[in-house]
Amino acid sequence: MKPEEKQIGLVCRYCGCRQFYVVYTRQRPGKVMRRRQCRNCGARFTTWEKDVGGAKPAGGEAAAGDVYG
Ligand SMILES: [Zn+2]
Repeated sequence: MKPEEKQIGLVCRYCGCRQFYVVYTRQRPGKVMRRRQCRNCGARFTTWEKDVGGAKPAGGEAAAGDVYG
């Protein structure tokens, strides 16, 4: 077995597929939000991942209160 993709423990609740497209990414201080879409059935999930690497504070953006869902 060779791990070609990092497993994040996310499994589609509808079809059990483990492969997702990332359709949207948003940086937050200390974490990253990703919208993922199942390759198999198209179900969408939102995941929060810990931000790794150089954390640079994004101070320029005003909080616009975007709503997704
Ligand atoms: Zn699925």
